[in-house]
Order: sequence, then C-alpha cells, then structure tokens
Amino acid sequence: MTAGDPDANAAELLCEAGRRVVDLGLSPGSSGNISVLVDGHILISATGTSLGALRPDDLSTIGLDGALGDGPKPSKEYPLHLEMYRRETSARAVVHLHSPAATAVSCLSPWSEHSALPPITPYLVMRVGQVPRVPYAAPGSRRLAENLATVPGELRAALLANHGSITSGRDLEAAIDAAIEIEEAARIVVALCGREVDLLSRQDVDELTARYGTVWDW
Ligand code: ZN
Repeated sequence: MTAGDPDANAAELLCEAGRRVVDLGLSPGSSGNISVLVDGHILISATGTSLGALRPDDLSTIGLDGALGDGPKPSKEYPLHLEMYRRETSARAVVHLHSPAATAVSCLSPWSEHSALPPITPYLVMRVGQVPRVPYAAPGSRRLAENLATVPGELRAALLANHGSITSGRDLEAAIDAAIEIEEAARIVVALCGREVDLLSRQDVDELTARYGTVWDW
C-alpha cells in the first residue's frame, strides 16, 4: 500500500476504528475483528492482532470471492465478514465483537424468529432494526458463515449464539454505531431479565421502521 491510495486511506480509518471500539470497552482482550470493502475486495484485521493496536501492516486483503491476497493471515472470521457483505450489498464495513452484554444476550433464547433482541427502545428499532440470532457453530468455521447465510429476512446486524455480535454499515462509523446500540439494548435486556417488561407496540415499531428505513419482521 502507498500513501494516498484507497487502500491506504481505508487502512488508516480501519486502525482508528479498532482503537475506538477498544476505548469504548466493546473488545475485551484482543477479541473481535473489523473489515472494510474497498474496490471489490475487503481489508480485514489479521489473525492474532489486537484491535486497540492495529497498524496498516496488520491488515489482510481478501477478494469478495474469498481469494486471499496480500498481507498477513486474515482473522479466521473472514468467511463471516464475506457473508455479511454478500447479504447486505450496501454494506461497506463489518464489525464483529465479543462485547459483554451482547454476548450475554446471545446465550439467551431469541425473543422471536427474527430478532434475538426485543423492541425494547425506539433507538434499537430506528438505528439497527431486527437483530436475528445465528445458530451456534465454532468460531472461524465455514459452518458459522453458512448459518448466517440461512437466517431468514433482512438484517444489518446479528447476534452469533453464545459468541457475540456482528454489524454492518455504509461506513465504519455506522457499523460501530450499530454495535454500540446493540450493546446498550442488550445491557437493558440483561438488567431487566426475569421481570415483566412493556415492549414497544407493533404500531410503534412499524412507525419507526417506516420513518427510518429499518426492518422489523415480527
Ligand atoms: Zn468472535
């Protein structure tokens, strides 16, 4: 990569995004991985890297067809990232995290077929929409990406059962914002666990999704 080329600019932004999710407490240990889509290929954090200390040399290049390009060995979760770009064609960034509350909720039975999280606040509905739960498969396995491929309905984000979250966005900021929103909603769900909760009504949710262009399939 040379300074000024699209990959170099994207690499700098990706490293900054890594520091941001660590500063936000969303990436315990060295967990999680981030990618961006640039000119038909993705840049993704390499395996064994810490998101808080990423440097442009720590990024791997992979074609959308899965062909490995330059750089170090990619995060083993790269098939999951590729599947997210395949599903959500407007996505230009994907963030996978093991943030504590989202991971806790990923261990609960899903609220519905289409969402692990209930419509508990308007912000989740407005900013993310439904968050399906992807059936468990081992981290880094092809099976996990296949499980994401078979989740019905539209999604911008999902919870991976007993594992963590994955979010997409039109840029890194949007994908991180979705991860923050999911973590906040999950924190509330955990705090209220076992209590009777008034959720948003179907009419409330339908008004929000129509206004903000998100999806919630009851
Ligand atoms: Zn993971």
